[in-house]
Amino acid sequence: MVTAPVLVLEESRQAWVRDQTRRELHECFDLWLDSMEEAVTEEPTSLDALAKAVFARRQELTAKVTEALVKQRHRPALHQKTAPCAQCGRLLPARALVPRTVETLVGEVCLPRPYFYCVECEGGFYPLDAVLELSNRRKQWDIQEAGARLAAEVPFETAQELFTQLTGLTLSAPTTHEVVGELGRELGVLEVSPTREEVAQRVAGVAEDKKQSPILVLAIDGAHVPTRPAGAKGPGNGKKRQRARRAKWQGEWKEAKGFRFYLVDKERIVQVLSWHQIQTDAQVGEALRRVKEAGLIPEERVRLCVIGDGAKWIWNQVKAIFPNAVQILDYYHLSERLHKVALAQFPDDPLQEREWVEATKARLFYGYVDWVLLDLEQMNPQEQESAAEVRKLLGYLRENQGRMKYRSLRRKGYPIGSGGIESANKFISHVRLKRSGAWWYVERANVMLALRCAKYNGTFQRVFARYKHRVIAGRDSSPS
Ligand SMILES: [Zn+2]
Repeated sequence: MVTAPVLVLEESRQAWVRDQTRRELHECFDLWLDSMEEAVTEEPTSLDALAKAVFARRQELTAKVTEALVKQRHRPALHQKTAPCAQCGRLLPARALVPRTVETLVGEVCLPRPYFYCVECEGGFYPLDAVLELSNRRKQWDIQEAGARLAAEVPFETAQELFTQLTGLTLSAPTTHEVVGELGRELGVLEVSPTREEVAQRVAGVAEDKKQSPILVLAIDGAHVPTRPAGAKGPGNGKKRQRARRAKWQGEWKEAKGFRFYLVDKERIVQVLSWHQIQTDAQVGEALRRVKEAGLIPEERVRLCVIGDGAKWIWNQVKAIFPNAVQILDYYHLSERLHKVALAQFPDDPLQEREWVEATKARLFYGYVDWVLLDLEQMNPQEQESAAEVRKLLGYLRENQGRMKYRSLRRKGYPIGSGGIESANKFISHVRLKRSGAWWYVERANVMLALRCAKYNGTFQRVFARYKHRVIAGRDSSPS
């Protein structure tokens, strides 16, 4: 039982440790000030020069503060004399302290850790590492997260340069590559999605002061990503660490498919959930189903609509998963198809071609689909090619007739296309993946896409925290 005098003793001991730490830090600060004063003796010195001098040396100070805090907060682990072996339970004596230097955003931190080794089980461990939740890498979690965030925006080499410029620290592109790979492993749609509560909050934010429920758009779309075959990996011709050479393999454009849920608030778009991968139609459907089953979409509190091009699989999936959603054929996609027909029908008459397209677009926009159908039926195309185009368009319009009520859709406030905003997939995919000379392994492209979705969904931090805990938990359960 803990008695009052013992508590008092403990309190006074803690106070002593605190005083001691403070004294050491004050001394450290004095020394740092001395070195700072020496560094900026030249007159006159601009604020910029002063700030740069402080910035360059700030880590000498912040690292010391961190080391002192570790000493203060983790006395038991630092002075541990014995520890039980995790496998056999035998009580082991502490061996000599083994210092380890790790890098953090506040500088290089040196940690003297007691080491324990079990001769029977032939395994050693550092309890302090576990208490401090250290990464096995020299670069700690904060640096890894910053690097991964940058790499999700720009190419790895640029990320490395930016990191150094902004922090004064180093982080190699291969390390960032590895971290991104580990971070993105096993990321599925639910792992990068906001929680039900977060979605509800975004809906409530848009619903405020409105009579009608807000419109939640589900846009389903694809974008092409330059990929390289798995066979391009690995060293070639017996040379070590040779990079895959462009000439040895054939790049291929593959479609990254996915969906985006977003709220429409007048001219504003409020992001809810994006998920894009190089994947099959069935996988897109499966991901949508998982979102639905996780209860992430509050269907009773929004007016859900789906915008897609004519692809049949989209409507089949939507009908099965969100049967009550309003279906909208993308007006801008439809307009592109009109151009094709006009070009075939009026190949030598650009003026007539343009007039027909504009007139047809206007009819569709104002809801006169029947007129357009009638017009096409009476077109009487002379050429085989244009006859085929007209026939195709007629089939397309008849099949999607119920999704083209643009007049009434507009009145109710629904968007009629995803063309007004950046198309769902493009800002996730193109901005990062489509760069000159960049060809992606499918696996890596999907990792990058998942991380970019996490970023836009506002879940990057959570994804990183989960990765960190996974690494720590996995290490604790396996013998070293
Ligand atoms: Zn043992």
